[in-house]
Amino acid sequence: MMAFDWFHVWVKIQIFLNILQLHILQANLNVLTFFDLNLNDSLLDGLDAMGFETPTPIQQLAIPHVLAKHDLIACAQTGTGKTAAFVLPVIHNILEHENRKLSTLVIVPTRELAQQIDQQIEGLAYFTGVSSMAVYGGGDGLSWEQQQKALRTGVDVVIATPGRLLAMLTSSGSFDTKYIKYLVLDEADRMLDMGFYDDIIRIISFIPKERQTLLFSATMPPRIRTLAQKILHHPKEITIAISKPAEGIAQQMCYIGDAYKTAFLLSYLQARQDDRVIIFASTKDKVKELHKELVKRKVNAQAFHSDLEQPEREELMRAFKNNEIKLLIGTDILSRGIDVEGISLVVNYDVPPDPEDYVHRIGRTARAERTGTALTLVNGKDFIKFKRIKELTGSNIVELMLPEGMKADEQRRSVHSSNKLPSNKHRKKL
Ligand code: AMP
Repeated sequence: MMAFDWFHVWVKIQIFLNILQLHILQANLNVLTFFDLNLNDSLLDGLDAMGFETPTPIQQLAIPHVLAKHDLIACAQTGTGKTAAFVLPVIHNILEHENRKLSTLVIVPTRELAQQIDQQIEGLAYFTGVSSMAVYGGGDGLSWEQQQKALRTGVDVVIATPGRLLAMLTSSGSFDTKYIKYLVLDEADRMLDMGFYDDIIRIISFIPKERQTLLFSATMPPRIRTLAQKILHHPKEITIAISKPAEGIAQQMCYIGDAYKTAFLLSYLQARQDDRVIIFASTKDKVKELHKELVKRKVNAQAFHSDLEQPEREELMRAFKNNEIKLLIGTDILSRGIDVEGISLVVNYDVPPDPEDYVHRIGRTARAERTGTALTLVNGKDFIKFKRIKELTGSNIVELMLPEGMKADEQRRSVHSSNKLPSNKHRKKL
């Protein structure tokens, strides 16, 4: 009887230990939630409304440092969730202060990025009462007077491009910078590429030294280190590695003007008649236009874009998988998720928005240990974007020469001939 009881106790202890082990294992595997990051409840409501469930790696690494009021250097690309990595903790910190003034300045290279960050803040801060505003030059934003008025009447966060910001800071009746506590430089390497180093240093001279500074950059060349040394104070450092293209993909590219792209593509496809091909274009209008052109030249192609109903998309996918369609043209909605064996060629009719998209797009070929080819057509407007993709993915991309009678855009030639980026003055005009 005694022995029997001991046996039961022993079994129960084993079960308890197994359950405990399982819990410890799960705790280690479980990714941190936003709740674990101790963010303000109104931010958690915003995250919920935006449908962000789990923090991305950069968010998991960056948010605790920013909440702890450290300066930060973060090496991370677009697509990693870097915006929310600084927006969330900075807004959390803003909410801790009762007397609110313009406290946060985010400096970014382009107006598109300024708008994008502004929109993301609008979503994430929806339940917090924190306000933001994008400040940039050109015609599509608020006018100079409207921007100045809004700045003086007090927003919490300003996201600005360097040129317009500096012009505002140095004009009479400028806005007050003395309450700025948080300074973020986003895509710092790109700002330096565009020749904004002096402007940035000048802007920072208007901002109090007692502040928290966060620097985000896709790459960390020595000049970013120099800038960081100058403007950050004992920063914490984090790096998020970018995905790399599969080894089996032969990557090719060609500098070419828009006017010649379709003709070049047709002659390229002529020599690869047996290939199963996906062509990516940046917009659905471009997809439709190219589809029309290829069909006119008797190419067995179909277009895949967001105007199609779900059953139509599924039917296209089925036909492509069964080899009834040789060539599919699509926007980036094609790049994620589609898993079709035997695609031998991916063409980027124009350069994808960022390196992650490039890796996803060309990853449609060379699946399951097979080999494949990826060709990217680069016009003058896209060459800096392409250069960044090449650098960030560490890709070895073979340049194809253009046939007689076809031309690359001017900008490309000036870069190529000097084998480095054009002068700052030239770059700003691109
Ligand atoms: P970013 O790198 O900041 O440009 O973000 C890339 C995309 O990821 C944006 O569309 C964000 O809305 C989205 N995003 C950022 N963080 C998360 C998250 N934790 N969960 C889901 N999506 C996210």
